[in-house]
Amino acid sequence: MSEALLVVNSGSSSVKFAAYDTGNSGGGADSALARIASGKIEGIGGTPRLLIRGQDGAVLEDRAISLPADLAQAQQQAFGQLFDWLGRHADGRTLGAVGHRVVHGGERFSRPARITPEVLAQLDELTPLAPLHQPHNLSAIRAIAGLLPGLPQVACFDTEFHASQPWVAQAYALPRRITEAGVKHYGFHGLSYEYIASVLPERLGTVGEGRVVAAHLGNGASLCAMQGRRSVASTMGFTALDGLMMGTRCGSLDPGVVLYLMRGLGMSPKAVEKLLYEQSGLLGVSGVSGDMRTVEASETPQARQAIELYLYRIRQQLGSLAASLGGLDALVFTAGIGENSAMIRRRVCIDAAWVGVALDDAANEAPSSAARRISTPASRVAVWVMPTDEELMIARHTLAVLDLL
Ligand code: ADP
Repeated sequence: MSEALLVVNSGSSSVKFAAYDTGNSGGGADSALARIASGKIEGIGGTPRLLIRGQDGAVLEDRAISLPADLAQAQQQAFGQLFDWLGRHADGRTLGAVGHRVVHGGERFSRPARITPEVLAQLDELTPLAPLHQPHNLSAIRAIAGLLPGLPQVACFDTEFHASQPWVAQAYALPRRITEAGVKHYGFHGLSYEYIASVLPERLGTVGEGRVVAAHLGNGASLCAMQGRRSVASTMGFTALDGLMMGTRCGSLDPGVVLYLMRGLGMSPKAVEKLLYEQSGLLGVSGVSGDMRTVEASETPQARQAIELYLYRIRQQLGSLAASLGGLDALVFTAGIGENSAMIRRRVCIDAAWVGVALDDAANEAPSSAARRISTPASRVAVWVMPTDEELMIARHTLAVLDLL
């Protein structure tokens, strides 16, 4: 009998999930992993809905669900309803494990980890480093442990892929004692970059082993420089606030601004946190939205400026990563904006002409959701759009940690 594996990516008011058949064949890697369903529970704490899609993307469920007002209880009951559904549609499979996206693994976790009470306590300590994500990632683990105490759970970290970066890419120029206490550049979106790195050989051949920058442009956004398919530099740092401008996060900022906000404007640390994580970026600059589709559709001067600033930051930071690599052989766009906004890709590529990028406009505009090359044959830099698959990466890690491969 084959087993099912659930992958969970839990946010503040929504839970994204994907269920896989592990095949239980011992056949290794993806021969044993077939996605059987995916979806999300959104509106937790408000008007909750459950959406489930089948293997082929067809909607199987899309309905309002009722959950209690208390957030922890609501999350637990939401998982309860999901497990009920999976149980009824399992075709005889039993649920063998749950793999979670956990945003911060700190210094201690440079590999995926099986959850124990001790591991959970260590991950709790990292909450101040990722206040927007870590508490929700961990409360999902607790909710599932409360429902199914014996079920193995595995944490997979967004920081992990960047552990290969050289010391100079990780260190801040701070006193040693601060660096040694773990205040360093970690980098995020690692599960997405790890997936991209895994498909580079099949798409780019030997070029994929060279100097590659991947641009994960979603609600959060970052760039990762890879050499030999390992991370050597990235734009995010100690927290997921640094680097590019994002949907609601500010990206790179003079630390003196933070001091001024607190001392000069009398803002509390909590208020500064809210400003930098939730009220800045596209939302703060445009005054319209943190969602790129809405900002692109808006004609206000502030929305236009927000896009100009978004692009300027990518232009500068792509230059910085190309410099750390000593040149550029390939550029890969991924995530919501990277995969879907032809306008943003076109502008980034025009800005990157200096490094040898020549865009094929027709290929860039062609409607497709498949991995594809969008640079001209003569372009010195190969430019690609590649859909990311963080869930598959988590499923692979979960199986490997539990030794089910
Ligand atoms: P998350 O980081 O939450 O996983 P996604 O990777 O789904 O987010 O990216 C969400 C972003 O992608 C939003 O800003 C959304 O507006 C943007 N996006 C999705 N489709 C398009 C599109 N066709 N054009 C422009 N932006 C898009």
